[in-house]
Amino acid sequence: MDSGFLTRASAGILRASSFERFLLEMWETVNHRLAPRVPFLGTGRARTLLFLVAWILLAPLTVRAQAHFDGAKAYEYAREFAAIGPRWPTGPGHAKAEQFLRSHFAHDSCEEDTFTADTPIGAVPMRNFIVRFKGSRNGIIVLGTHYETNYPLRNINFVGANDGASTTGLLMAIADRLREQTAHRKLLDGYSVWLVFFDGEEAIQTWSDSDSTYGSRHLAARWGRDGTLSRIKAFLLADMIGDKNLDIQRETNSTPWLIELVAQAAKKFGDERYFFQTEMAVSDDHLAFVQRGVPSIDVIDLDYGPDNSYHHTAQDTMDKISAHSLTIDGDVFLETIRLIDQR
Ligand code: ZN
Repeated sequence: MDSGFLTRASAGILRASSFERFLLEMWETVNHRLAPRVPFLGTGRARTLLFLVAWILLAPLTVRAQAHFDGAKAYEYAREFAAIGPRWPTGPGHAKAEQFLRSHFAHDSCEEDTFTADTPIGAVPMRNFIVRFKGSRNGIIVLGTHYETNYPLRNINFVGANDGASTTGLLMAIADRLREQTAHRKLLDGYSVWLVFFDGEEAIQTWSDSDSTYGSRHLAARWGRDGTLSRIKAFLLADMIGDKNLDIQRETNSTPWLIELVAQAAKKFGDERYFFQTEMAVSDDHLAFVQRGVPSIDVIDLDYGPDNSYHHTAQDTMDKISAHSLTIDGDVFLETIRLIDQR
């Protein structure tokens, strides 16, 4: 066992926190600077043992210092939501998904934003859900996801575990945190945070500007008319980021300073490798907000399975997503909110 091994092992067991880095730096100092000069520190093996004992004793502090997001909870919510089955607009699963969200947020400030979408199959009733947590500062941060599945995939048992369900679970678990912070009429320490569950993101027939993103285009237009848009400091969209093999692209329609903030948040947790290694432009629910001048980012992993073979196929199931990825997402979203509040 060498210090290199210890460094790698500890990085694997616990994702780096500043406290852990501090311990590892101490270890490096003892091993390389003090040991050659102080005989009683003994052999490399004895020092390793000494360090491990110290680390085990201090580990509870490390865990408390980290307080990672509960990705397992997000995964469990996603599992329950995907278990509803296909949730295509006009289908029975869609009605169940609506009821699921309605009853889950029954004790929160939850608005149901209903509208009729003009689609290639005619008028389709749709419904966004907006859950609001009030902050002490004047302004709003919006986190969004879509929750429905594709109408054209209605006959292949497409449950969208990653595409729709994973980020619905993520926002539900984030809601748990926000609910704790606003218990007993307390306010969030910063801007208000609104969670939006969009309907009709997927194309009803074939993806185009007019046949896609029905819910976000409707809501951005409505919030433009009633003045809400001017109060939105940032719009963060989550899409397909439950993927076990997480590689979030730098989405080039997104606002540069928000991309930088998300990168900064990822760095705090040592999660840089999951973010922005490649880039691409994606059409998604953020565009209607980008076009209206709202700072927006699409946090999306559009590389799902070998040759993208799980994307929009019956292969998009719960075994392809992970609590670990959702932990990373939750950590980074909550930290990004904190960074926006500090701006
Ligand atoms: Zn999709």
